Amino acid sequence: MKQSYFSLFAGILFGVTFAEVAAAAKPARPNILFIVGDDMGYGDVGFHQCKDIPTPSLDALAASGVQFSNGYVSGPYCSPTRAGLLTGRYQQRFGHEFNPTGNNGMPLTETTIADRLKTAGYVTGLVGKWHLGAQPSMHPQQRGFDEFFGFLGGAHSYVNLEGILRGTEQVTELDYTTDAFGREAVSFIDRHQSHPWFLYLAFNAVHTPMDATDDRLAKFPNIQDKQRRTYDAMMLAMDEAIGKVLKKLTDCDLENNTLVVFISDNGGPTMKGVTINGSSNLPLRGSKRTTLEGGIRVPFVISWPGLLKPGMFHSPAIQLDLTATALAVAGVKVNKKMQLDGVNLLPFLSGEKSGAPHEKLYWRFGEQMAIRTGDFKLVRYDSNYDTNTGKPQPVTAAKLYNLREDIGETKDLAATMPDKVKEMQVQWDGWNGTLVKPLWGKGAGDSDGKEPGKPRK
Ligand code: CA
Repeated sequence: MKQSYFSLFAGILFGVTFAEVAAAAKPARPNILFIVGDDMGYGDVGFHQCKDIPTPSLDALAASGVQFSNGYVSGPYCSPTRAGLLTGRYQQRFGHEFNPTGNNGMPLTETTIADRLKTAGYVTGLVGKWHLGAQPSMHPQQRGFDEFFGFLGGAHSYVNLEGILRGTEQVTELDYTTDAFGREAVSFIDRHQSHPWFLYLAFNAVHTPMDATDDRLAKFPNIQDKQRRTYDAMMLAMDEAIGKVLKKLTDCDLENNTLVVFISDNGGPTMKGVTINGSSNLPLRGSKRTTLEGGIRVPFVISWPGLLKPGMFHSPAIQLDLTATALAVAGVKVNKKMQLDGVNLLPFLSGEKSGAPHEKLYWRFGEQMAIRTGDFKLVRYDSNYDTNTGKPQPVTAAKLYNLREDIGETKDLAATMPDKVKEMQVQWDGWNGTLVKPLWGKGAGDSDGKEPGKPRK
């Protein structure tokens, strides 16, 4: 509204034609808000029937938009899926298959969505976790973001300000980080409300280390398991921060002109033997680090009250699509040279296009693999993170599941449908042939961070 009044006023003042005023008074280009949770369990939000964690803000967002019952990320680990999200490309196309080790990070050959939106005239901001390289040349403000508040690595204390940066400067005061990220996101929207903006709000909640505030812990007196109680309190903090951000959109009258998406970057780490956080992926099987559904299928919502009717979307979609969707919303022309793997989901959500956005989705994570076509999934996974033995196990032989009938991946159909196995393996091999070798190897142990996964209190 502010822009409209200003345009009218400017038109009268400068004597431009009515047509020019009308053109200038068109609604501003939509804003784009990506909200990403970290290591969340598939079953840990109210809209996935979680019982012990109140997530009213996320539930309201889900109710206001389209919920994806088959929403995926392109890997079972933090950094690779964030690289996929920011490029709209399978990260294995540019060697970003594993979490970065040493001085590695997202290759500078890649163009980010922030680069593209900035070129298109958007103000761009990142609040939260980067995890795409800590080198100066890989800093968010070298990768298309005008503003940055957060940290560069893969995990961070929620209470220690060392390494929390505003731009490139160390901050000198800090709230609990989840609260600070909510505050900074609200500030970003406030400062840029009269200009099209893109905000990537990348929480590290609910990744380890397990740190919660006392007031929120006190809200879960009946949860006996200390780790789960801390996890619940951390989830609550993230939901509260998201609530403040969504309220800010409403207060600024931007609710109907903002595309909001929410995903987790990968499934909850539920296996024994390595860092875990108390999450639950039920009814899915498997954990972060696996190509089972528990590692790669995540809570996934797109909301745009001004354009999209609320509802459910059941065809498989992937976080790479969010990039393509956002570019389309911003009016950025996608060409073949960009080599995007995601597709614009809006025509499928509006009913303009029928059918599924993807005939096939693919995963590769070292020796683990998966391909989904229709209801079927062919998968080889690390059985250590499935059986919870805590001992290294070999990656399994290829198994075939019908996910429509068997969301928990319990009935292996490989022996009874050998032709299907062969067909899907050939399809995956074809995709695999288009990828490059990983630019760096898989880190030892939990390469997300050095912090232990035990609750602090
Ligand atoms: Ca993660």
